[in-house]
Amino acid sequence: MGKDHKVLIMRCDSYDPDRIKDIVKEGMQELGVKPSGRILLKPNVVMAHPEIFPHAFTRTEFLDGVIAATKECAEDVDEIAVGERSGITVPTRYNFKMAGYPEIIKKHGLKTYYFDECKQVPYQLKKSEALRDNMFFPEPIVNCDFLINLPKFKAHPWTRLTLSLKNFIGIQDDRHRLVDHNLFLEHKIADLQEVVQPRFIAIDAITAGQKMMLTPTPFDMGAIVMGTNSCAVDTVGCHMVNVEPKDLIHLKLTSERGYGPMSLDEIEVGGDFPLEEMQAKTKDFEFCMEHVDNYFNETSNLRCTVGTFPEKHSADYCWGGCPGALQEAMHIFKGYYPGAYQDMKKIHYVVGQVNGELDIRDDEQVIFAGNCTSWEGKIDGNDVKIESSYKSPAEVDEKRTCGNDMIKKNLLPPVHLIKNRNSRHIHVKGCPVSVGDHVHYVSGLGKLGNPNYDTRTLSGVNIAYWQMRAKRFLNQFTT
Ligand code: SF4
Repeated sequence: MGKDHKVLIMRCDSYDPDRIKDIVKEGMQELGVKPSGRILLKPNVVMAHPEIFPHAFTRTEFLDGVIAATKECAEDVDEIAVGERSGITVPTRYNFKMAGYPEIIKKHGLKTYYFDECKQVPYQLKKSEALRDNMFFPEPIVNCDFLINLPKFKAHPWTRLTLSLKNFIGIQDDRHRLVDHNLFLEHKIADLQEVVQPRFIAIDAITAGQKMMLTPTPFDMGAIVMGTNSCAVDTVGCHMVNVEPKDLIHLKLTSERGYGPMSLDEIEVGGDFPLEEMQAKTKDFEFCMEHVDNYFNETSNLRCTVGTFPEKHSADYCWGGCPGALQEAMHIFKGYYPGAYQDMKKIHYVVGQVNGELDIRDDEQVIFAGNCTSWEGKIDGNDVKIESSYKSPAEVDEKRTCGNDMIKKNLLPPVHLIKNRNSRHIHVKGCPVSVGDHVHYVSGLGKLGNPNYDTRTLSGVNIAYWQMRAKRFLNQFTT
């Protein structure tokens, strides 16, 4: 009996735009893909910098090749555009520049949608499993006819892998991106699929990323993965690195909602790179799924205590929130300052509900991270009471969330640190505490340089920020 879905794994061992174009064009033809109408290409540019974040994003040459193939295969085109929202509040236009995108987009005569500069519109969710009734999306996402998803093949410390489904986190602006980006991240990813389904997916797996999503270590995978259904593509992606699809929780949740398969019984795997050969090649592919108390304690001046968490489905760990953000932040420090783990002053990081004694050493500063964190005890002989202010998704109104503006995010933590300068402990609020906030607090208490003020990126990011603010203001008046 024929299978309903087809996914191709094609060999591609270099970032040669012409070769990528030929492979993607062949894939589009084999899969019967004919882009038309308002075509939107969505790469993964969570962060980009040639020196500090060289492997975090869908490479420029890959985008170049896919655009060329799209133009050759498309019919009845109204528009071809590239759109994305980068991570940790850094303006997308800055990361596009660092990735080298503007030259390629200009060469092909396409439009750019920086989603942080676009109008955000409410979209009503209908699936009964959704966490909330409405989500907000940039207009180009809601209005596109033909979405082409271009993820980067990477491991991910929150969700194990980021492939086609997870790439949708980058379709929301800062105000809405961190809503439910906590114990419910996997559910949120499933919810995001309701607004639009990609009609073609091409994963940049030429150089894949291991362990982290912002600062991955490169893995020479040598492939392009293509398909027309996110669940099918992600299922094959899991098998490519010897992961059981059921362990990719957002894939399981999305598949259960009827968006696609998660079994190879329903997917024909084609292409010229046999799955078994890929599995042998990736047998040592590295993930980062350790809890932070196992991950850091032996290897750095950071010790972590992990308590329990307020939702039954994930009471032993918060996969989508603060702990993973700490891991990403620490790896950012390592990217900027290679000796950071040993050079930093000692910090004890506490997350979750912790009962009883805490082993706080005399030379440690203490960060209590996150709204759900609670503890009661003595530090330096003084009574300390940290109280939880955690709210479940039903108690969080997505229309009233704060903006997560970059300047605000850069000002508030230093002020908080100054106010608490005479205390050995600090409670950092947020659900989640973002990667950016973690960077500020670890920098301040650990007496490390602050990547937010690093001269290699400071002026470029800030110029891009004010351009972004101006464009966002003007875009309110366009229809
Ligand atoms: S406060 Fe942080 S650790 Fe606690 S539930 Fe929220 S994101 Fe998770």
